[in-house]
Amino acid sequence: MAIIKIQKGTKDILPSDMPVWYFMEDNARKIFSEYGAKEIRTPIFEATELFARGVGDTTDIVNKEMYTFEKSERSLTLRPENTAGVVRAFIENGMHRLSAPIKLWYKGPMFRYERPQAGRQRQFHQVGVEVFGIKQPTADAEVILMAVNYLNALGLNDLSVELNSLGCPKCREEFKTKLKDVIKPYLSQLCPDCQARFEKNPLRLLDCKVEECKAIYAKPEIQEVIQSDFICEECSEHFSGLKSYLDALKINYSINKLLVRGLDYYNRTVFEIKSNNLGSQNAVCGGGRYDSLVRNLGGEDTPAVGFAMGMERLASLIGNRDDEKTRAFVVSNNTVEGIKLAEELRRAGISAEFDLTNKKFVKQLEKASKVAKFAVILGEDELNSNQVTVKNLDTSEQKTIPREELLKAI
Ligand code: ATP
Ligand code: MG
Repeated sequence: MAIIKIQKGTKDILPSDMPVWYFMEDNARKIFSEYGAKEIRTPIFEATELFARGVGDTTDIVNKEMYTFEKSERSLTLRPENTAGVVRAFIENGMHRLSAPIKLWYKGPMFRYERPQAGRQRQFHQVGVEVFGIKQPTADAEVILMAVNYLNALGLNDLSVELNSLGCPKCREEFKTKLKDVIKPYLSQLCPDCQARFEKNPLRLLDCKVEECKAIYAKPEIQEVIQSDFICEECSEHFSGLKSYLDALKINYSINKLLVRGLDYYNRTVFEIKSNNLGSQNAVCGGGRYDSLVRNLGGEDTPAVGFAMGMERLASLIGNRDDEKTRAFVVSNNTVEGIKLAEELRRAGISAEFDLTNKKFVKQLEKASKVAKFAVILGEDELNSNQVTVKNLDTSEQKTIPREELLKAI
């Protein structure tokens, strides 16, 4: 029969990949809880409306990338990101009543219908943090600190933090108008995507990857608008505050005025962390402040800031990690005594395997040396004298000892 293949843009995470995934997951729990963040797990599918309203219907994600389906006359969507879902859960569970800041973290699969390429899948994983209830830039600084420390814990240091402020809806509106005015004469020369963005989401023009568009946006009169300090005094104070905290924390960053992020909900701070060791998909982390999202999704006015990281991109930077070997492999042709001893070891907290097919002694030893640290040999002689032979499979050292000394020996 024909075999059924995996879907384009999806990947199996195989047993041999797991050491890296455990490493990322264990460190997420460890590092984020150092800051008092608690884990939250929200459903993989949500009402389509949540993303249309939450992520924004002018974004690529909502326009082109969602896996949407109907069930019992409801429109459902596989989550393309987790911030909207976390905010929904925050509102529905009345978490605004908890004392601020409310710090949440998550990890799990996300789904986007994109063209698969290196670093870009249709099912991928994110780990992320959301901090609710704090409008001061201390929260922005702490969120960036959490991201940087997490990456450092993974051994990733060759990274750069890019920072920008998008201002508030008011100052951004003025900026959008100026930007449109200065770009308008070139409208017909822009790529179809930019032509569509021009009215719907002009900020997104700035991160177009098409060379012809980039050349137009590099023109002096357009650069003058882009590089201008358009943000209002309050937004500017917030941004300076953030920068001074980052300086005090010795976090290196650079200001990137072209950094606008793909999602509609950001205001003031946006940031990205890029790796110098990935190809064109080099962003490992994206985040920012989203003070109006909770209200837009029907909750109490609650400021918030967070980030998401792509775990496949992290995994490719981490490389391989050794799998942990089974501690003991019981080698015996007495299946009853062998299966019992292996279980005894497990109950004592020692991982143990036993050959279930009663192969020849040498075959069992061969298998043991591949998968385990110690062979625990239970031959005729050992059984008769209530002893075991323990062989260290790394050094080949071996000794016969009384059964009751076994736990100590391994
Ligand atoms: P990009 O510009 O790479 O499409 P994005 O702005 O869509 O990124 P976010 O929505 O901010 O990305 O997601 C945060 C992180 O999740 C990204 O920095 C990236 O590491 C990862 N990510 C996003 N989309 C994918 C994908 N399709 N496959 C793998 N990782 C992804
Ligand atoms: Mg994207």
